Amino acid sequence: MKKVTILGSTGSIGVSALDVIEKNPDRFQVVALAAGRNITLLHKQIEKFRPEIVAVADYKRACKLRDLLPAKLKIKIVGDKEGLNEVASFSAANIVISAISGAAGLIPTLTAIDAGKEIALANKETMVMAGEIVTKNARKRGIKILPIDSEHSAIFQCLQGQKRKHLHRIILTASGGPFLNYSREKIATVRLADALWHPNWKMGKKITIDSSSMMNKGLEVIEARWLFNLDIQKIDVLIHPQSVVHSMVEFIDGSVIAQMGIPDMRTPIAYALTYPERINNNLPYLDLLKIKNLEFRKPDMNKFPCLRLAYEAAICGGTMPVVLNAANEVAVEAFIRKKINFIDLPGIIDRVMNSHKSSDASCLDDILQVDEWARQNTNNIIERNIS
Ligand code: MG
Repeated sequence: MKKVTILGSTGSIGVSALDVIEKNPDRFQVVALAAGRNITLLHKQIEKFRPEIVAVADYKRACKLRDLLPAKLKIKIVGDKEGLNEVASFSAANIVISAISGAAGLIPTLTAIDAGKEIALANKETMVMAGEIVTKNARKRGIKILPIDSEHSAIFQCLQGQKRKHLHRIILTASGGPFLNYSREKIATVRLADALWHPNWKMGKKITIDSSSMMNKGLEVIEARWLFNLDIQKIDVLIHPQSVVHSMVEFIDGSVIAQMGIPDMRTPIAYALTYPERINNNLPYLDLLKIKNLEFRKPDMNKFPCLRLAYEAAICGGTMPVVLNAANEVAVEAFIRKKINFIDLPGIIDRVMNSHKSSDASCLDDILQVDEWARQNTNNIIERNIS
């Protein structure tokens, strides 16, 4: 029986993970949950899965949740960042699903690694910000980091049984998002609702907007760089609108191995939880006869400058990806609040990156300081733009 902690249980990945767990009660048991603000859903999850400890965003919500639960249920409810870290390092768990969205996932993921937990990683920002520290700490403790992100799960699967020296490059596929066939002029007119719609995947708000701008693919390039310890030059992106090939690996002899499947996050989640085993997820099998055609195109970095910015940050290295990520998070949040337009996103991120001189990213305090600086700076640029 695998004992599982989920950080971000009420988000899209958390909900899918609980679905996998619920369908396999003989394999998994939920021991701890952490969520942010959705107390209503979290309450339902607690009643169903009976974890031993639960964390929420703050003490006020922790009190509210305590009031909702019957006193006879012996569940520890904690709040705030300390509570989140208590859940991340909870002793009974074997594996921690890191699925909090954004930079907020970094510290709890590092805490879980320090506590010796295996990590099923969905939070790519953790790797973008602190890939060097995360991989070093995991290596030191002999901990596996199992990717949940569908592209990285695909690469991970394609690499099984292969020799590292035979690897030539990896190819991350991207659906291209809702604006793939838009002209630059048309992209300039898109609204929030347009950017919140994805053709193939159902996901949370932030990642859906990142997919629309293709920043998501850029963050994934940096995530892949750390997960698979690769030079950026060995990581390519191809647009593949059908989202059937989840990614590919090319070997030195010209062989290409692709991982395919229906676009459903429960497949990579289950693989991360059961690796190296596979289980039947009771999902529909891939029907290639129905799909018929698989297309591939080169990404247009002029139409999607966020992808170019991410490559630039990755090549620059050090703390530049921290700045890229922080500026993107703040700008996306401003877009969600309708303070800026979709078309403004890359320009704002570019300006913040331009005013940063990259430095070494091997110390967590430095990373957090740069993150804070970049957020402040992005906010200033946005405020100046509005007024
Ligand atoms: Mg992905």
